[in-house]
Amino acid sequence: MSQTLQAVRGMNDILPEDAETWEYFEDIVRDWLQSYGYRPIRMPIVEPTPLFKRAIGEVTDIVEKEMYSFEDALNGEHLTLRPEGTASCVRATIQHNLVASAGPQRLYYYGPMFRHERPQKGRYRQFHQIGVEALGFAGPDTDAELILMCARLWEDLGLEDVALEINSLGSPEERAQHRAALIAYLEQHQDKLDEDGKRRLYTNPLRILDTKNPDLQAIVEAAPKLADYLGEESKAHFEAVQVFLKDAGIPYRINHRLVRGLDYYNRTVFEWVTTRLGAQGTICAGGRYDGLVEQLGGKSQPAAGFAIGIERLLLLWKECGGEPERPVVDAYVVHMGDAAARLAFRAAEALREHGFAAILHCGGGSFKSQMKKADGSGAPVAVVIGEDEALAGEVGIKPLRGPGGQQRVSLEALPEAMAELLYGNEEEGAE
Ligand code: ATP
Ligand code: MG
Repeated sequence: MSQTLQAVRGMNDILPEDAETWEYFEDIVRDWLQSYGYRPIRMPIVEPTPLFKRAIGEVTDIVEKEMYSFEDALNGEHLTLRPEGTASCVRATIQHNLVASAGPQRLYYYGPMFRHERPQKGRYRQFHQIGVEALGFAGPDTDAELILMCARLWEDLGLEDVALEINSLGSPEERAQHRAALIAYLEQHQDKLDEDGKRRLYTNPLRILDTKNPDLQAIVEAAPKLADYLGEESKAHFEAVQVFLKDAGIPYRINHRLVRGLDYYNRTVFEWVTTRLGAQGTICAGGRYDGLVEQLGGKSQPAAGFAIGIERLLLLWKECGGEPERPVVDAYVVHMGDAAARLAFRAAEALREHGFAAILHCGGGSFKSQMKKADGSGAPVAVVIGEDEALAGEVGIKPLRGPGGQQRVSLEALPEAMAELLYGNEEEGAE
C-alpha cells in the first residue's frame, strides 16, 4: 500500500469548524478596516527574491534563514514565497504609480505568508497576516492612528491582556551613530557574546539587543540606548505619537530594546504583546518605514504600517472566550421516492430564490435517518416530501427547534410559509 500523503510540516489545513471561525473573523476585520478608510490590495504570493533581500535586509533572520526561495525550473528566475507583505505592497504601489498619481494611500491585504521556522504553537511555516500600510503619510498622527486602530480591533473582539510596547528607531543617521557606539561597547564584551551575537556584531548589532538569551541580558541592559542618540526631530515625532496615545487613553510601555527584525523601520516601532500565548506572544507588530519606497526604486515617500498574525490572534480570541456565530441553513429538505426527489430539487431552489439557505438531502436512506441528518444540520425547519406530497405537488414543512407540528403547503406557497415560520409576521426573507 502506498503511504498516505501529509501536508508539509508547519503548514496547516484549516478544517470547516475553524474555517468558519476564520470567515466570521474576516467579516469583522473587513468592517473594521473600512471604518478607518483602508482599501484592499491583493498581491501575488510569489515575488522575485531580490525584492525581499532589498526590502527586509540581507542580515535579518528572515532573509538569512527563513525564506522559501527557489529557481523557476522553466526560466531560471529566482523566486520566493513571500515571507511578509510590506515589500510586495510597496513594490505594487511603485509599479502602478499609486501614490504618485492618486496621492497618499491607506491599504490593507490579507493572506498566507511563508517562513521556514521551527513549527510550534503560534509559529508555523505557512501562517496568515493582515497587513495595513499607510503610504505617503509623514506625520505622527498616522503612527498613532495605526496603533489606535489595533486597540479598537482588540476591543471589538473582546481581547484581554494585550499590552502595547513602543520605541523610536530614529533616523538612519542617528542609528548609524548609535551603531558605532554599540559596536564599541559590545567589542568590550565580545568574549561573552553567543554565536548569534558574535556573528551580528558588525553586521546587525542592533539585533543583539533583541536577544532572548538570558546570559546576555546584563550586557544588553547596560548597552548604549538608541534613545540617547535621537535628534530633535525624531524626539518631537515620538513625543507627538505619545500625546495622541495618551489622549486616546491607550496605555503603553517604552521598550528601548524593541528593534524589530526587519531592517526597513525608522522612527516609531511598536508591538502588541500578550502573556497568554507563551513564547509566541506578539500578535501584531509594525512601525514607520520612510526609506523603503526609495530603497525599492520609487520616489521617496514616507510610510508606516503593521501586520497582525492571524493564527496567534485567533488563539488569543479563543482564550478570551471569543464565540463566532456559526452559519446555519434555514431548511433541510428530506424526500422519499423518485417523484419526491424531483420535487425536492424544485423546493430547495424555490427557497434559495427567496433568500433562504437550504440543504437538499442526497444519498437516500430512510425518512428516519434523513430526519436525523436534518436535526444534525442545525436547520430550524425540515421540508418533508413523501410520495403523497409529491403526487399533490405539495410539501410538508416542520419546525425542528420550536413548537408546532408539520403543515402541508403547495410548492408555490413554500417560501411564504417558511418566512412565516422563521420570522412570524415580518417580511418574507427579512433578516
Ligand atoms: P517573531 O519574533 O515572533 O518571530 P516577527 O518579528 O518575525 O515575529 P513580523 O515579521 O513582525 O514577526 O510579523 C508580524 C506578526 O506576524 C508577528 O507579530 C506574529 O504575530 C506573526 N508571525 C510572524 N511569524 C510567524 C509564524 N512563523 N507563524 C505564525 N505567526 C507569525
Ligand atoms: Mg520571526
